[in-house]
Amino acid sequence: MSHFISSLSQPTERTKVGWWFAFRGPRLLVAQTAAGQLTIPAVLDLAEMGLAPLRSHCFGLLDGRACYAAELPEEAALPENYQFMGLRQLFGQLDEPLMRVAMRALPIVDWDRNHQFCGHCATPLEPAQDRAKVCPQCNLRAYPRISPAIIVLVQRGETILLAHSARHPQGFYSVLAGFAEPGETLEEAVVREIEEEVGLQVQNIRYFGSQPWPFPDSLMIGFVCEYAGGEIQLNDGEIAAADWYTAESARQLLTPPASVSIAGQLIESFLQG
Ligand SMILES: [Zn+2]
Repeated sequence: MSHFISSLSQPTERTKVGWWFAFRGPRLLVAQTAAGQLTIPAVLDLAEMGLAPLRSHCFGLLDGRACYAAELPEEAALPENYQFMGLRQLFGQLDEPLMRVAMRALPIVDWDRNHQFCGHCATPLEPAQDRAKVCPQCNLRAYPRISPAIIVLVQRGETILLAHSARHPQGFYSVLAGFAEPGETLEEAVVREIEEEVGLQVQNIRYFGSQPWPFPDSLMIGFVCEYAGGEIQLNDGEIAAADWYTAESARQLLTPPASVSIAGQLIESFLQG
């Protein structure tokens, strides 16, 4: 079982190869191995590959090997046998431990890029002791942004609520989700989102699990709950269709089958009873 330890300390000299999570925009630099799997560069420094990142730093250790997050310039040339791929495309293609660390690396690179200057007084930010930057002028601190979003399976007897979001491709059904608002508990966010999107009341809200979803910076917090009242009404235009589905009808509706996402896991847990 692979183990990742988050760390802020930078190796004083690079004597061992590290894993380099190098992004151009939101896309990760990956290479095809001889075995046809995808992997990322394991080198002392990206300079060996002719790459000069705009910014890079060590953000932790995977099984003792340093992990670097790096931002490549838009014009970065592609080393031979390498390509840039979005993280979502990499599910199932990149080793699970590397995939999980890549999901940590992307928001760190984003934060590093987007927090060069103080948002209050525009002074260049400096590194802080923890995973933050600090303004030497006004002390404002800038942390990597994590946006909590609830995702919820609503059960009614032997059926579950599945909805088609207007933003998703035709025929794609899933559970409801939405961002928590400032000052709101996650349970309040569950109640509000379901009320806003489909006009239903729910009860018995229970925690299911969570998943970082760095597209760009969500933390999905999964819940299950029970229907308590109301009729489905599509109020705010976000949801194009919603209805109750038995396990059998849900299986017919949901193609491709449940994915690696927590939405998929929530639905799978219902389908498996
Ligand atoms: Zn400032």
